[in-house]
Order: sequence, then C-alpha cells, then structure tokens
Amino acid sequence: MDNNASRRSFLGKAAIASAMAPFISLSSFGNGYEKSIHNTEKRSPPSDLQITRIGCGYIKGSLMVKVFTNQDIYGCGEGVDAVAGTYYLVKNFEARLKGRNPLDVHRLFEDIRKGGFFQGAQAGMYIAVMSAIETALWDIAGKALGVPVYRLLGGKFRDKIRVYCDTALYQRSLPKPSDFADAALKSKKMGFNAMKFDLDQANDPAKYDKYNWTASPRELQRMYDQIAAAREAVGPDTDILVDMHGRYDAVTGHAVAKRLEPLNLLWLEEPTPAENVEAYKSIRDSSSTPIAAGENQYLAYGFRRMLEIGAVDIVMPDLQKAGGLGEGQRIANLANLYYTPFAPHMVASFLGCMAACHVCASVPNFLILEWQSYFHTDPMFKEIVTYDGEWVKDSFITLSEKPGIGVDLNIEAMRKYAIPDVPYFV
Ligand SMILES: [Mg+2]
Repeated sequence: MDNNASRRSFLGKAAIASAMAPFISLSSFGNGYEKSIHNTEKRSPPSDLQITRIGCGYIKGSLMVKVFTNQDIYGCGEGVDAVAGTYYLVKNFEARLKGRNPLDVHRLFEDIRKGGFFQGAQAGMYIAVMSAIETALWDIAGKALGVPVYRLLGGKFRDKIRVYCDTALYQRSLPKPSDFADAALKSKKMGFNAMKFDLDQANDPAKYDKYNWTASPRELQRMYDQIAAAREAVGPDTDILVDMHGRYDAVTGHAVAKRLEPLNLLWLEEPTPAENVEAYKSIRDSSSTPIAAGENQYLAYGFRRMLEIGAVDIVMPDLQKAGGLGEGQRIANLANLYYTPFAPHMVASFLGCMAACHVCASVPNFLILEWQSYFHTDPMFKEIVTYDGEWVKDSFITLSEKPGIGVDLNIEAMRKYAIPDVPYFV
C-alpha cells in the first residue's frame, strides 16, 4: 500500500472510530481501531514526515523551490524580486531544515528567521528565500493532510479572489494617453473590472535631471492626461489603480495625489520611496486619493509603524517576498486592526498567484490581488506550471480546492527558461 493510500485508510478508520466513540468503548471496539493506531508508525503518518532536500531553479524574477520529503510528498514555493544570486542561501536553509518535520511551518520559519545573531532582524534576499520555502511547507502540509492550504490558514471567507490587471505599459517606451485608453479598453474587454497603470517614466523628455525626481509641469500634465484617458475609456465603474514605483519625491507625491483626485482612483501606489512611511502619511493627509504601499516591506514588522501612524489607506505586501503565506496572513490581520484593506502585490507565476489566493481567501479584509497582463501573452507562464482549472474569469480567480496550493511546477518545461550557469534543481 502506498503512503497516500495508507494515510487515507488510517484517517478513514480514525474518523469511523471517532464517530462511533459515543456508542462503543475503546476496550470493546475491536481490533481495527487498535490496529490502525498500532500501525501508524510503520505507515508513515504526517507526524513522521521529514524534509530531505530542497531543489531550486531561477527564471526571470522568480526563485522556484521544491521541498522534498521522505514520503514522496513534495511542496512547491516561489520567491520574487530579491532572489537573484541566492542559490547558496537556499542550500544553507536546506542544511538547516533537513530531517525536520515540514508540518511545523511556523516553528521552522522562526528557527530560520532567528538563526543568526540578531534575533530575526532580517530583510531582502533572506526573507524572499524564506518566503519561497515557507510556501512550499504549506503545500506539503496541505498535501499530507489532504486539504487545501486555506483550510490550514483557518478556512475561507470567499471562494473567488478578485484581481486587477496590471497593464504593464512600462514595457512600451513613452506611452501616449491613447495607449492608456487602448490598454484600459483591452483589459475591460478581457473581463477585468479593475486595472493598474504606471506613471513613472525615467526617460520622459520633460524630465530635467536623471537623479532628481521632482516632476516638471509637463510631466505632471502627462501623468494626468494618461490616467484621464484611461478613465474616459472605461467609465466611472471600473477601478483604476496608479503606480509610481516609489521613484518620485514628496513634492511630486503631493502634487500627483491632489491632481488625480477627480479621476477617483482605487489607489495611488508608492508615490515616494518605501523607506520613509511618514512621507506616505503626509501625502495621505493632504489628499482624498487613497494611498497604497507595502511591496517593499519585509515581515509584519515592516508594516507595524506604517499602520500605527496611519501612513496608508491600503497595505499591499508581496507574499513571495515579505515572508510567505503565514506572514502574509499576519500582515492582513494586523491591518484589519486598523480597518485597513489588504491587497497583495503579485509578480509571481501562477504558482505564487494561487498561493497568495489561499491567504486572500483566509482573511476578512482582502480587497484585491494583482494579476499580470503578460500571463495572457508570454507562453512561459502557462508552460512552467501544471493546473487544470481556469486561471481567471471576469476579474476573479476561483480558489483551488485541491490538497496543498493546487498548482504544480513543471520542472522540465521550466528548464529552457532557467537562468544559465546556476545549478538547476540539484
Ligand atoms: Mg508597485
């Protein structure tokens, strides 16, 4: 009997035993129940799971990991952004996790986070790699216990996760207002009821200085014209989000938030760099345009002061970077204390996307999740994962009900996209 079959058999017998417990005393229950208890050690129950190996591969901005166990169950996870060059960090974590039970997700997370001299004051690559591995541990736990990850996170508030389409117009040089209108209409035609546009342009000819990010009058007008064109194209009922990628200074942040007020945005994202949350508060206090930030914060600690001083209207942690699924839920719950919605940033593959969906389903204050327009045009994203359901329909992703995250990595298909000269899943 294989491990899964034996586990099902054991769980089935245990369930029958528990249902019958009021009627039959254990001493008279018979051999079946006692036998199943007796046999659990040999039948590799989840309590005997052990991590044996962590394999990893790198594509574009993502670190993909597979955490293997002694029971033919593996988990997949993804880290983004701060992951380049982290192969030896993955291997370092592998050495520390070998032999440990992957179901102790929070404990393993804390052991790794606090494994250095400074009691867990970590950020950057360290936390991004932890995010990938922690996500894979949840995937293992779900598969081992036969439940989707959201069950392990306490259950779901919703079956479908609303997403907005990032139009990725930054891929076009100097897009005109008409390009914004076209992208808006295209997203709407695809069924999206919310969409995001980028306003930062390092190569804007109206920009006077490479290092100074005070927008000139012509830049401010360009920004307004672009978003006004998108608003006019889709009408008042579609949510429009605007990102400045944390590049501009506070003077410009104030000016843009004020200037875009008539366009009724869902949010203005990172108008200024991420380190100084007081600047966000100042902009928030000066304008009715809602301010969102968080994709460059790490762990729940990165959100504490932001929330305490009321710096933002919406928190948008990146779960593949800020610490994974447990930490993502912690950030959402922390935000909920301040009646602040939770709207994760997401630039991962569909694996990371569905992993994030489990967290989004598990918290009351979820608002919206990011979705990328290039998922529909770049064949890589379909090739590197295995998932038999529909990805997105009418701005919603249906939550997977499969054990674990519900999306598998296709290691063979992914190989051709792997960053060269880096060990690949060895
Ligand atoms: Mg952003």
